[in-house]
Amino acid sequence: MRLVIAMMSHETNTFSTVPTPLSRFSRGNTHPVPLEGGEIIAAYKETGSAVGAFIELAEAEGAEMVLPLAAAAWPSGPVEDAAYQYMTDRICGAIEAGCDGILLQLHGAMVTESHEDGEGTLLARIRRMAPDIPLAISLDMHTNMYPAIIDNADIVAGYQTYPHVDVYETGLRVGRAFFQMIRGEVRPTMAWGNRPMLPHVMRQGSDDSPNREIQQLAKKMESDGALCASFFTGFPHADIRLAGSSAVVVTDGDQRLAEELRDQLLDLAWRERTKFVYQIEPLAESFARASVMVEDGPIVLLDHYDNAASGGSMDTMTVLKGILDAGLEDVAAFAICDPEAVQTMIAAGIGNEATVTLGGRADMPSIGRVGEPLRVAGTVRLISDGRFRNIGPMGKGVMNNMGPTVVLDTGKVEIIVISTQQEPNDFACFQSLGIDPRAKRYLMLKSRIHWRAGFKTIAKQVVDCAGVGGVHLGLRDA
Ligand SMILES: [Zn+2]
Repeated sequence: MRLVIAMMSHETNTFSTVPTPLSRFSRGNTHPVPLEGGEIIAAYKETGSAVGAFIELAEAEGAEMVLPLAAAAWPSGPVEDAAYQYMTDRICGAIEAGCDGILLQLHGAMVTESHEDGEGTLLARIRRMAPDIPLAISLDMHTNMYPAIIDNADIVAGYQTYPHVDVYETGLRVGRAFFQMIRGEVRPTMAWGNRPMLPHVMRQGSDDSPNREIQQLAKKMESDGALCASFFTGFPHADIRLAGSSAVVVTDGDQRLAEELRDQLLDLAWRERTKFVYQIEPLAESFARASVMVEDGPIVLLDHYDNAASGGSMDTMTVLKGILDAGLEDVAAFAICDPEAVQTMIAAGIGNEATVTLGGRADMPSIGRVGEPLRVAGTVRLISDGRFRNIGPMGKGVMNNMGPTVVLDTGKVEIIVISTQQEPNDFACFQSLGIDPRAKRYLMLKSRIHWRAGFKTIAKQVVDCAGVGGVHLGLRDA
């Protein structure tokens, strides 16, 4: 049995100022192009990825594996056509050479310069080439579902946690159903549907109601016999026709049951929709609260509008400026993305003083803002190549690469300055730079929900800080 296994993952924020060329898809690695072949096994086997699960299951079946591509990029603007062409040609070329099954780790919210449904467009092309080959895909919970995704796949399932700590388990759910299908033990049939709502991402966590109960219901459906059951919160920062929430249920040959279960998931989400609304606190009030908190820390200051994992540039300075102006002490800030400032500080050298113009390089026309850099002076404490491996629970074992990285110490704030976007969702993003986040009074994190994976257990308090950034939904008054 010959299987094609591949990954192509990008969550597209159509309002983001950050471009998405092919080189962005080598996330975690040092190549200018995505991994292929044996490189994929070396990078992803035994990691918290769906591809890792696919490899494990394929090896257990004694299948021959063809691995044309593992491409993953942090969220940003529409994928450049040339990048999309390269990635989809790699996958389709491997399928065209002949195979008995296809397992793909996709995202579900990829928008390209030419297509608002990057995944469905790929799957339709595959189906035209290989109409009868079993095809199963794992998707992110932030999928914006399109009919072409469902019409051109046999098995579709998404994560059931946010933070996404079940990426590997989702690969197992998809892969097990897929091998049952290949062995002729099941005949998967799918039902999908959507509701016209855009849950606010800050209200989508699976620790919080109502997504907690919705995901519990999906899990119960699987333990009761559905092959896969998924509720997708959707990704609201995409100005496309079908952005929003959806559900997909896969059963063994029972279309009516799949439709019934799909409706249960969608009805529950719709009934509870007001809980998906997020109340924004003015930034000055957030700082006033944070500055008088009695806990030793860490107190998490969440710079959520500039979250890299939603397409933020990570170079807006509003929240960090507030921290410096308020005189908060014993702070570690992750992170400002500014490759030019990094080079200036590397030239200054470890232990030396440096004054840099930091951040604010990108204008944000979708919210009518221009970039506002900040002059910051401090001591260069550490210089790193910016590579680290996740400890988990999210993406355990997966390598990250934030490019040349410097820790600038102002005396009160240790500012981590990186060269390419990296969301702080893993303890190792601090640990790899010699900073113990448990020992800090304040942690500024440019994140929204995923930070919980790495830091929720150590956080004494959390203060949402409504700064500015590419996650403003494109609304000037949000
Ligand atoms: Zn997601």
